[in-house]
Amino acid sequence: MSARMTIDLVNGIGGDPAVLIGFQNHGQNLLFDAGSLEALGVKELLKIRTVCISHTHVDHFIGFDRMIRVNIPHFRTLEVIGPIGIANQIRSKLLAYTWNLLEPKQMTYRIHEVLGDGRVVTQVLSSDDQFSLGNPVTTQPLNNTKGAILPLQQTDFIVSATILDHGTPVCGYSITLPDFFTVSINAVATLGLAPGPWIGELQKMAVGDNISGFVELPNGEMRDAKELAKAILTRSHGQKITYLTDIVFSKENLARVVSQFSGSDTLICETNFRHEHRDRAANKKHLTTKQAAMIAVSLGCVHLKIFHVSNIYANDHQASVDEAADFFSTLSGLPPDHLRSEIEAEFVRL
Ligand SMILES: [Zn+2]
Ligand SMILES: [Zn+2]
Repeated sequence: MSARMTIDLVNGIGGDPAVLIGFQNHGQNLLFDAGSLEALGVKELLKIRTVCISHTHVDHFIGFDRMIRVNIPHFRTLEVIGPIGIANQIRSKLLAYTWNLLEPKQMTYRIHEVLGDGRVVTQVLSSDDQFSLGNPVTTQPLNNTKGAILPLQQTDFIVSATILDHGTPVCGYSITLPDFFTVSINAVATLGLAPGPWIGELQKMAVGDNISGFVELPNGEMRDAKELAKAILTRSHGQKITYLTDIVFSKENLARVVSQFSGSDTLICETNFRHEHRDRAANKKHLTTKQAAMIAVSLGCVHLKIFHVSNIYANDHQASVDEAADFFSTLSGLPPDHLRSEIEAEFVRL
């Protein structure tokens, strides 16, 4: 896995869901779900600027109070994403405390509610007006699909989301880091050029897929941007991580996940149950090891990382990890039509 994004299961495989995503060369982290966050230190918590909540069953949301607590002295904005109702639920948490000693603009939350049709409703909760809700801004779905691209501020990654079914709406998420361009210092030296701001300009054009015109070298010479880019830049694959938890294995969920999150490199996925307990998984609207592997292969993933394993396996979490890995490896080797019939058979069994 590329080191540009790191994945840390805050409470291990069986604890409350909370997954910390770190970005290399980037001052901020992102958190998927806020189960207990006691395992994280204040320094790590303060790096989290975006919190993606799947849904508000207590094991996914009880740690959010700690995010509230650590952010009080810092006058910064926290971005929070979740399904419909999340703004009111965060507001309710905030209103449970007394706030008579705050300074202006001390606490601000930008809350994004993802709707079933892919629209996003953004509202700001501020300590300046007792965390009142109001002035919602709606972002339309991407290309008329049911997928949402979140209107986050100051990030160089993209968060997309779609609503899935768990008996209650649940947000599935993916984070995408765009392709990036590395510079060959040797090539720069071979061309006899002095490094300078022109290199950053070229990289910027390349990221925007818009290399044209000329760039100015430190000696004032103007050079063709395309030629220079070809000589010194190498495109490296970005990275896409998908996060799915607490969903039932249904045709509709699978279709939505595939339409929104295909082309993922890594799937972080709950596997509450092992394959032998797939009836219990269906009853509780959770996934099994095999179903998680089927989703990962359907998305084209090369890595599957499981978590949120049920307490009934508390004495042997590793068996769930091994079982998921076995299914993932076997299913990855199947031709597409065999995979499709395996998935069809899984639906029939349920
Ligand atoms: Zn859960
Ligand atoms: Zn749940």
